[in-house]
Parts: sequence; structure tokens; C-alpha cells
Amino acid sequence: MTDIAVIGAGTAGLTAAIYARRAGRSVVVFEGEAPGGQIINTPKVDNFPAMPGISGYEYANKLYEQAQDQGAEFVFDTVRKVEGSYEEGFRLTGEYGSYCEARTLIIATGVKRRQMGIDGEQEYAGRGISYCATCDGAFFKGKTAAVFGGGNTAVEDAIYLAGICSKVYIIHRRLQFRADQALVDELLSYDNVETKLPFTVSGINGRKTLESVTLTSIDGHEEELATDALFVAIGLIPDNSVFKDLVELDPDGYVIADEDCETSVPGVFAAGDCRVKEIRQLVTAASDGATAAIRASRL
Ligand code: NDP
Repeated sequence: MTDIAVIGAGTAGLTAAIYARRAGRSVVVFEGEAPGGQIINTPKVDNFPAMPGISGYEYANKLYEQAQDQGAEFVFDTVRKVEGSYEEGFRLTGEYGSYCEARTLIIATGVKRRQMGIDGEQEYAGRGISYCATCDGAFFKGKTAAVFGGGNTAVEDAIYLAGICSKVYIIHRRLQFRADQALVDELLSYDNVETKLPFTVSGINGRKTLESVTLTSIDGHEEELATDALFVAIGLIPDNSVFKDLVELDPDGYVIADEDCETSVPGVFAAGDCRVKEIRQLVTAASDGATAAIRASRL
């Protein structure tokens, strides 16, 4: 039986794997996509201590290599079923048939991008609508793009696109951005960036591909904005439904665990963005990973 199964290979999960291996524990890390988590799509990370300017991709790769070098084992499969208990051991089954028995679990599943939930969103995904500017921005080189959202992701996406596209609109439902002021200042320094405030995207229009979006303001005023692309960056939601019968989740689906990363169930820990917490940053995810691994290693 493995000592610790880590579910998710983002910053929290990979840091947990490093700490657990250094504590002499056997570790299996499950990951359904590429290792690295959300940060892999961030062009430039300027707020991780001692690594100013590192790309999210390079950061994620370094972290993955570090976990591998420490001897963590990786299973690239999405965990679909978790059974058992600390007393008898936990049994994890993956979507593609992988199986693991572990004494303790660290849930580090992170979050995924929120969808707009309007007509045409699914239909135009990949035909103008995208959730990842660094993945798809190059398809719109020299064209017009719009970004929807007001947080750090949206503003970073708009900055990235401003260097590729001829014109970039940023649409946000408030007059003030939620993003860090330094990022907002950088965004507003671009001549080809225009803000659309306070608006939400209420319609998606086009024939084969996206041609325009309908914007609605708080007072009900509507306008049509011609654009070749819409990058949706309206926040993140957890994906913890597989654990709903195992641990307590809050009404939004985050795992209930406090700063010691312990859940209500013995032997099950939650680390990083997937748990109830106020500040979701790389450093807090790394901190959680270390905390969860140290606690799990002591059991
Ligand atoms: P955030 O939750 O920070 O921002 C989401 C934005 O989308 C908010 O402006 C919010 O509006 C808006 N929004 C939410 N729901 C809707 C909706 N239904 N319709 C319209 N607009 C909506 O998410 P991010 O993805 O930007 O960031 C997530 C976390 O990651 C944050 O903690 C962020 O700081 C961090 N991050 C840090 C980075 C860095 O430090 N370099 C880079 C990227 C992310 P409102 O403001 O009105 O709530």
C-alpha cells in the first residue's frame, strides 16, 4: 500500500509530493491532464518569491521535474472513485482503469475556468470562444479579440493579447477591475486596448465562427461589439464532485479544511485552490502542499 496518494499535480499537489518524499513516504500522484495545473497557461509569473518573470510553463516543468527527482510516482488518469477509510486504506480508481491503495490522501484538484452559461457558448467554443489566451491567442494574430472578466487572469490575458492582436477589448461587469493595480496600469498603457465597463456578455453572434458579442450594461443598455475572438476569464470553480461522499464540501463545492489542511475525515487532507480559503495564489498553494504532506507523513 502506498503511504500517500496525491490527487492533482498542480502547485499544491507537486509540492506535497516533494515534501512527502523528503519525509521518506511513498507517493503516487494522480493527474488527469498535463502536470503543472492552472499556472501552465500564465505567460509570466511576477509574484513568486525569487522567480520574477518566470513563465508559468517553465515554473510548472521545474516543479514537476523536482517531484520526479524526489521519486514521486505519477499516474496520468482522472480519479473517478474513492472508497475506504484511514483504518482499512483508501482505494482509488481512475477513469482509464488505474488503481491505487493508499494509507492517506491529499486532495489537490485545484479549480477550473467558470463558463458564461449563455446560448451559443458550447457551439462557438473553438470557433472564436476560448478559455485560454496563451493556448489560442496566436490564432487571432492581427485580428480583434475581446476578453471577458476583471480579475488577474482576464487582465493578464488582455496584456498578452495586446501584443498579438490589432485591437483588444476587455469587458467587465464593474467600473473597477479586481486585478492587481500593477497589472491594470500595464494593461491601460497599451494603445490598442479599450475597456468596456460595466458590461456583461449576453449574446454570441456569428455564422460559422464568432463575429460579434452582445454586451448588456447594468441599466439594460445593449450594444453589439464586433470581434473575432472572445476569451472568457470570469473566475474559477472547483471540481470536487468525486469526493462528495468522502469529505465535507461547502455549498460552492470547495473541500472544507482549514489552515492545517485537515478535512473532517481522518487521513484525508485538502491542499491549494480546491479547499475553502481566502487567498488562492501560487505561494499559498505551495504552502498548503507542504502543510498537508508534513501532516500526512506524521500519521
Ligand atoms: P477572479 O475570481 O479573481 O476574478 C474573476 C472575475 O470575473 C471577477 O472580476 C468577477 O467579477 C468576474 N466574474 C465572476 N463571475 C462572473 C460572471 N458570472 N459574469 C461576469 N463576470 C464574472 O478569477 P481569476 O481567474 O482572475 O483569478 C483566480 C485567482 O488566481 C485569483 O486569486 C487571482 O488573484 C489568481 N491569479 C493570480 C495571478 C497572478 O498573481 N499573477 C494570475 C492569474 C490569477 P467581480 O470583480 O465583479 O467579482
